[in-house]
Amino acid sequence: MKGRTLGSLAAAVALTIATVAAPAQKLQLAITVDDLPAHGELPPGVTRQQVAQSFLDTFHREHLPPIYGFVNGVRTVDAPPTLQVLQAWLKARQPLGNHTWAHTDLNDQTAEQFLADVDRNQTLLNQIDPKGQHQQWLRYPFLHEGDTIEKRRAVRAGLAARGFRIAEVSMDFEDYLWNDPYARCSAKNDPEALKYLHDSYLETADHYITVYRGLSQQAFHRDIPYVLLMHIGAFDAKMLPELLELYRKRGFTFVTMPHALNDKAYRLDPDHGDKDGGSFTELLLESRDETVAPDTKPYDKLAKLCR
Ligand SMILES: [Zn+2]
Repeated sequence: MKGRTLGSLAAAVALTIATVAAPAQKLQLAITVDDLPAHGELPPGVTRQQVAQSFLDTFHREHLPPIYGFVNGVRTVDAPPTLQVLQAWLKARQPLGNHTWAHTDLNDQTAEQFLADVDRNQTLLNQIDPKGQHQQWLRYPFLHEGDTIEKRRAVRAGLAARGFRIAEVSMDFEDYLWNDPYARCSAKNDPEALKYLHDSYLETADHYITVYRGLSQQAFHRDIPYVLLMHIGAFDAKMLPELLELYRKRGFTFVTMPHALNDKAYRLDPDHGDKDGGSFTELLLESRDETVAPDTKPYDKLAKLCR
């Protein structure tokens, strides 16, 4: 505990010195939310609509710029009431983007099949949000952009021909990992486990700020405007206010995704086939055969918690 405090103090002193030496531009972060209208398990008594409304209320209260929500249309057929989530998002003047109809994994599909799934989803988006048609964004499910270079290029060409831009990710702590254990631990009413979820969520988010800033330095020798990947889960909704506070403490100001992705860094194309996928910065570094930081998230503990 003491070590952490001293570490934070040293970081604060270092930051102060850096600020005096050269007034740095504020760090920029665009929040994005995947898997609308439904992601992960829910705690007892919580609805999809409540989860979405909690996100929207926080956006409003915290004066955030418009936040993209990425949609899988298939959920509105599996569970028709979830269409209300998309309607609430639009009513709150938040934009929607395309995440494929069925959360399709490009590793398992041909380029043609994948693009057909994008088209099917866009038909729904155009119906519910006719004004959104002039700005089409795709977020790849699982951040899988093509396991072979040929497939990657074929999908990119198809997306460009349709007028899509790619909603790249450059900040990610796999926030979704906490949603299912939260539902289980809430059902068991286990305060100790819930405290662990709270603390480890924020600690992991904090650590991955450092990791992704490091990757950006490695790739571009500067902080690019970052795009954070989140998911529309119950724990994400609950933690969002504290998460925003963390990013503010770490020097971030919030911007829109299109603003962040207008940075010239994102004009680069990693042009790299990879079945594991990953963030924009990781794929770019891997395409240059550079190593990226090891993954230290508590996968096992989260998977076993409250079973
Ligand atoms: Zn997704």
